[in-house]
Amino acid sequence: MPVQYKDYYKILGVGKSASTKDIKAAYRKLARQWHPDVNPTRKKEAEDKFKDIAEAYEVLSDAEKRRMYDTLGNDWQQRAAQNAQGGYYRSQPGAQRADGGGAQFDFGDLGDSSFSEFFQTFFGNIGRGGNATAGGGRRGARGSDVESVLELPLREAFSGGHRTLTMQVETTCPRCHGTGNEKGKLCHQCRGTGTIPSTKSLDVTIPAGVRDGQRIRLAGQGAPGMGGGSAGDLYLIVRIAPDPRFARKGDDLHIEQAVSIYDLVLGGEVVVPTMTGQIDLKVPAGSQNGRTLRIPGKGMPRLGKGAGQGDLYVKLVAQVPAAVSDRERELFQELAKMAKTR
Ligand SMILES: [Zn+2]
Repeated sequence: MPVQYKDYYKILGVGKSASTKDIKAAYRKLARQWHPDVNPTRKKEAEDKFKDIAEAYEVLSDAEKRRMYDTLGNDWQQRAAQNAQGGYYRSQPGAQRADGGGAQFDFGDLGDSSFSEFFQTFFGNIGRGGNATAGGGRRGARGSDVESVLELPLREAFSGGHRTLTMQVETTCPRCHGTGNEKGKLCHQCRGTGTIPSTKSLDVTIPAGVRDGQRIRLAGQGAPGMGGGSAGDLYLIVRIAPDPRFARKGDDLHIEQAVSIYDLVLGGEVVVPTMTGQIDLKVPAGSQNGRTLRIPGKGMPRLGKGAGQGDLYVKLVAQVPAAVSDRERELFQELAKMAKTR
């Protein structure tokens, strides 16, 4: 389909020599007149008109874009073809609109209201939407980053995986399309903020071995932008709930394990829990109470693929029999005597 030429001056009903002030005034008047919300009976027509008006204003209110547009002559289609790949227009980082950008009133985000093919041929996909392919996109304010706490049991930090979170978030107000204005007055639904609270489901990937205090970034899931700016990011701050058995130190895990005095004296085996099931641990003969044994590779996964795992440290805690039979007492007394004479 051939790209259709857009006469931005005609769309705004201004002359080629119109001042920035004239252009802004014409735009405000037309945008108010054609805002889809005030044309419910011919919404489609109004949306198309409104898009054209916004696009014309985007170009003519920006000195650099306007100059470029003005140089287009009868050969514009040829130039469009030449420049379709290269990105004809490069806006300067931080470039400001000629009018200072104050006219936030009618910049409704009309959903999928991308600019026309004509516009994109020359200016790239800048303007509303924020995904600047031509290095622009300074229009509208980027939404702020949002922080939220994600509490995880240690077991989940160990295994990693997916989690679906239901978040309380701010989304673009459907009534005013994020402008905060409605027919020149504060929007009733959002009270002028342009956003309303709502809930949203997010799928979060939890990296195995995630640490307490670590931040997981979800790009574009923060607060929505204003006037077509891109959304901010959501940062989930990981809080790992204390585990009743395992204490974590870095990538290592620590537990205390009850061991009978017999096993400590004579040596033996105890069953020890790990994150992936129980294992048998050899207790060397003559182990002191409080001795710590290391089981390599049974700690937390180290962050990053193939980084291995930390170790599990098992502290042996002697269990003294609380009650003994008469016969046991006799034997202990005998042992005690022998120990004194040794
Ligand atoms: Zn609103």
